[in-house]
Amino acid sequence: MGEFELIRHYFAAASCAQVGEGVALGIGDDCALLDLPAGEQLAVSTDTLVSGVHFPDSADPFLLGQRALGVSVSDLAAMGATPIGFTLALTLPTAEPTWLQAFAAGLDQMARQCALSLIGGDTTRGPLSLTLTVFGRVPRGLALTRTGAQIGDLLCVGGDLGAAAGALPLVLGQRQAAAEIAEPLLARYWSPQPQLALGQALRGKATAALDISDGLLADCGHIAAASGVALMVEQARLPLSAALLALLGEDAARHCALSGGDDYRLAFTLPAEHLAELQAAGWSLHVIGRAEAGHGVQLLDHRGQCITPPARGYQHFGNPSD
Ligand code: ADP
Ligand code: MG
Repeated sequence: MGEFELIRHYFAAASCAQVGEGVALGIGDDCALLDLPAGEQLAVSTDTLVSGVHFPDSADPFLLGQRALGVSVSDLAAMGATPIGFTLALTLPTAEPTWLQAFAAGLDQMARQCALSLIGGDTTRGPLSLTLTVFGRVPRGLALTRTGAQIGDLLCVGGDLGAAAGALPLVLGQRQAAAEIAEPLLARYWSPQPQLALGQALRGKATAALDISDGLLADCGHIAAASGVALMVEQARLPLSAALLALLGEDAARHCALSGGDDYRLAFTLPAEHLAELQAAGWSLHVIGRAEAGHGVQLLDHRGQCITPPARGYQHFGNPSD
C-alpha cells in the first residue's frame, strides 16, 4: 500500500476527518483552512509520543490512538479552549493494516468524543512515533494561562489523582491485579478524559491553570514560577481513587498523586468567591491548597507543617541537579 492510499484509507476516510465546525478545508490540499469566529484566538499545542519512551512497543494500537489524542486535547482543556481540529504526523516502520485500522479507530473515537476533526498530517517511514498538533479557539483574553495566580487564591484540581501512575506497572506487565481494581486504573491510563467542559467553565474565573501531565508537584511548580507565588498543597486533601488505594495503600497512592504523571486533570488557582458558584453548577472540584506569598511548592502535613516533597516529575533530559 502506497503512502497516498494509506492516508486515504485509514485517515481521510475516518469519520473524524469529515469537515466539521470551524474547518473550511480538511485533508487533501497543501494546507487545511480553519475559520475562527471574530473575537476569538487560536490555541495550538503539539505533542510527540515515541515508541519505547512514551508507550511500550507492544501497545495496543486502538488504545494508543485514543490515548495520544486524549493527551494532546488535554492541553486545549487546560487553556479553556474549544477544540477545532488536529493534525497527525505519523512515522511507521511498516504499513501494517491491522495495526493501522485499530490505531485509526482509537483516534477516531477520541476525536468524536472531544468534537474535533482530523485536518491533515504527514506520513513517513521510520521508528514508530506520533506527533499530534491540536487547534482550538478561545475568546480573546480569556485563555487560562499559568501566569495569573494571586496570593489568597485556592488551589484546586478537577478530579482524583494518581490513578494513571498507579496503572503503569499494570500497563508494563510488571504487576497483576483483580479486574475490579485494574480496570478503572487502566482506563485512566489508556483513555485520559480531557477536562474540556471544566476548562471552558473556568474562563474568566480561574486565575491560572494547566493540565497535570508530569505530576501534581512538578506541574504546580510551573504555575508558582510563572505567577510569582508559592503554592501550598495540603497532603490530607489530595483526592485519591478507591481503586488506587486498594492497589497500593495510602502512602504509595499519595506518592502517585503527588509525583506520578499522566493524570490529565486540570490544576488551577481560583479566587474563593467563585468556588460556591462552580460547585452549585455541578463541578466536582477538590480544593487542595492555596497560593501564598513566596515561591515554589510546599507540601503540608495534617498539622500544616511543611514536609519535604518526594522526587518531582519526569523530565526527559534529567533534572538540573542531576
Ligand atoms: P504535502 O506533500 O503537501 O505535505 P502529503 O503528501 O504529505 O502532502 O499529504 C497529502 C495530504 O494528506 C495533506 O492534506 C496532508 O495533510 C494529509 N495527510 C498526510 N498524512 C496524514 C495523516 N497521517 N493523517 C491525516 N492526514 C494526512
Ligand atoms: Mg507532507
